[in-house]
Amino acid sequence: MKVVIVGGGAGGISTASNIRKLDKDIEITVLTRDNKVAYSPCAIPYVLSGTIESFDDIVMRTPEDYKEKNIEVITEVEVTAVDSDKKTVTYEKNGKDTVLKYDKLVLATGGNPFVPPMQGVELDGVFR
Ligand SMILES: Cc1cc2nc3c(=O)[nH]c(=O)nc-3n(C[C@H](O)[C@H](O)[C@H](O)COP(=O)(O)OP(=O)(O)OC[C@H]3O[C@@H](n4cnc5c(N)ncnc54)[C@H](O)[C@@H]3O)c2cc1C
Repeated sequence: MKVVIVGGGAGGISTASNIRKLDKDIEITVLTRDNKVAYSPCAIPYVLSGTIESFDDIVMRTPEDYKEKNIEVITEVEVTAVDSDKKTVTYEKNGKDTVLKYDKLVLATGGNPFVPPMQGVELDGVFR
C-alpha cells in the first residue's frame, strides 16, 4: 500500500504521522511546495514581531525526523496533475517532472482566505 499526501501543513503531516502510528509498513510520501514542514503558521506573527527570535524556532520537525519514521517528505515541489484513473500524481521539482503512483491519495493543500471586496484592499501596504 502506498499513500501519497499532497501538503505538508498541519493537515498533511498529521495524517502522515497518524497513518504511521496505525501501520508501520504503509509507504508514505508527503509532497509540499514549502521548504519546511511541521512548522506553526500560527506563530509567524510572533516571529515577525520579534517575540520569537527565529523562524527556525517554530519548526517542530524536519524531513529527516520523518525519514526516521519511514515517511518520505519531498519539499519544494509543485504538484501539477492528478490522474485518478491511473492513480498517479505528477510533481515538478527543479524543472523536472516526476510521476508517482499511489493507492490512496490525500489532498491536504490548505485553503485560500476569502478577501472581502473592501475599498482600498488592493493598495500597497495592505497585506492579505
Ligand atoms: C499568520 C497565521 C496565523 C494563524 N493563527 C492561527 C491560530 O492562532 N489558530 C488557529 O487555529 N489557526 C491559525 N492559523 C491557521 C492555521 O495555520 C491553518 O488552519 C493550518 O495551517 C491549515 O493547515 P492545512 O494543512 O490545512 O493547510 P496549510 O498549512 O496551508 O498547508 C497546505 C500545504 O499544501 C501545500 N501545497 C498546496 N498546494 C500544493 C501544490 N500544488 N503542490 C505542492 N504542495 C502544495 C503547501 O505547500 C502546504 O504544505 C494561522 C495561519 C496563519 C497563516
